[in-house]
Amino acid sequence: KLHNTILELKGNIRVFCRVRPLLPDDGGRQEASVIAYPTAAESLGRGIDVVQSGNKHPFTFDKVFDHGASQEEVFFEISQLVQSALDGYKVCIFAYGQTGSGKTYTMMGRPEAPEQKGLIPRSLEQIFKTSQSLSAQGWKYKMQYAITHDVNGNTHVSDLTIIDVCSIGQISSLLQQAGQSRSVGKTHMNEQSSRSHFVFTLRISGVNESTEQQVQGVLNLIDLAGSERLSRSGATGERLKETQAINKSLSALSDVIFALAKKEDHVPFRNSKLTYLLQPCLGGDSKTLMFVNISPDPSSTGESLCSLRFAARVN
Ligand code: ADP
Ligand code: MG
Repeated sequence: KLHNTILELKGNIRVFCRVRPLLPDDGGRQEASVIAYPTAAESLGRGIDVVQSGNKHPFTFDKVFDHGASQEEVFFEISQLVQSALDGYKVCIFAYGQTGSGKTYTMMGRPEAPEQKGLIPRSLEQIFKTSQSLSAQGWKYKMQYAITHDVNGNTHVSDLTIIDVCSIGQISSLLQQAGQSRSVGKTHMNEQSSRSHFVFTLRISGVNESTEQQVQGVLNLIDLAGSERLSRSGATGERLKETQAINKSLSALSDVIFALAKKEDHVPFRNSKLTYLLQPCLGGDSKTLMFVNISPDPSSTGESLCSLRFAARVN
């Protein structure tokens, strides 16, 4: 009985950890890494150890990608999940972590470099390719993206754009536009994007010809606001309120996923705009995956431990 329950949970909510490479700006050295990957058979590819002040903190997830993992390898591990949106499932994939840990790289990547494209463009390509080869009648796609801002302790959903799309070419150019408007004036916008949640949604409807069933799948890809705590962000005034609001909405998300994983009767969807927006796609027989993104820079160890503990709670 217990065994069954665990399998069931694993089927619905999964957590993948991804550690980005050390960057020139980090200041640390790869050799001085505070992160190790256990090689014991039972945790190979699933374990990560973080060392802080000589203490080792071990974690295990469904999958751990080290700094050498390519975008293609990461996508390979989620392609089944993306595919299930075409079978009518509601899928949510989140990227969680402090600012600079690789969330946007994982989700969007660098679209100008094909091998560095992230999960969003790769997922869309796969969906369009498969749905066309399914020769199903009249597949329809609606793309939507929303940016939620936390201002003065309130979350607003803004820039909610809904577009009917009919080709991958069209989506690519829309994504490019969205990417451009986010990267204009890099420093400023990067700051902006780390203070807001970016929710990308693709709604798919059509009739599966082999089963003659009406299919209505949804794929949500969510680049969450930076999870850094107050002390780290050095925030004061308005910014302080904003950070508190972000932390509140992230913990509301964690409460929701935790309640779903535990199959609790009450799931507190209404505690934040983000979970309210995603409510139709969380729970039931929907599928959720959370990436916890980690920076290997020794100065980020404290934040990394917080992120890993957050992720371990929902896994
Ligand atoms: P976040 O969105 O969490 O703030 P970014 O995705 O912007 O972080 O990543 C911070 C920096 O690290 C960027 O310059 C990004 O290109 C780089 N980066 C992140 N992950 C990787 C990776 N896996 N490989 C190479 N560069 C990466
Ligand atoms: Mg980002």
